[in-house]
Amino acid sequence: MSTCIFCKIARGEARSWKVYEDESVYAFLDINPVSEYHTLVIPKAHYENIFDVPEHELLRVMAVVKKLVVLYRERLGINHVQIINSSGREAQQDVFHMHFHIVPRKAGDGQNVVWRTHPEWREKFDAMVERLK
Ligand code: AMP
Ligand code: ZN
Repeated sequence: MSTCIFCKIARGEARSWKVYEDESVYAFLDINPVSEYHTLVIPKAHYENIFDVPEHELLRVMAVVKKLVVLYRERLGINHVQIINSSGREAQQDVFHMHFHIVPRKAGDGQNVVWRTHPEWREKFDAMVERLK
């Protein structure tokens, strides 16, 4: 995709701070980091998100996520990370080239991800599971 910023980064046509590259996967620092070493891991080929990425490409990307968190732990002492993927505009995806965020976390980092929970929806679980059969 000629206009996609992450395609340009993967091709070396746009500036990035690379932390890993192989024939099918590229990883680089997020330009607006929420923590030190906030990293994005992408397939070099263009897929929009989790819905259209082929399983074999997803597995390669995930293997690099694992490789990098191990590297970050060994080299940097990072022991806490959040791995995040947003797929779809209403799921707060902003860049439509599939990516995983690696967000290192530590006590006192000033970040706090909060989800509103709905325990009252448990009464719908039987019907919800039934719809998948
Ligand atoms: P998302 O909301 O999951 O689609 O996140 C997109 C992420 O891409 C954001 O965290 C942005 O800061 C990041 N981003 C956008 N453009 C660039 C860029 N040129 N280089 C590095 N990160 C970028
Ligand atoms: Zn792309």
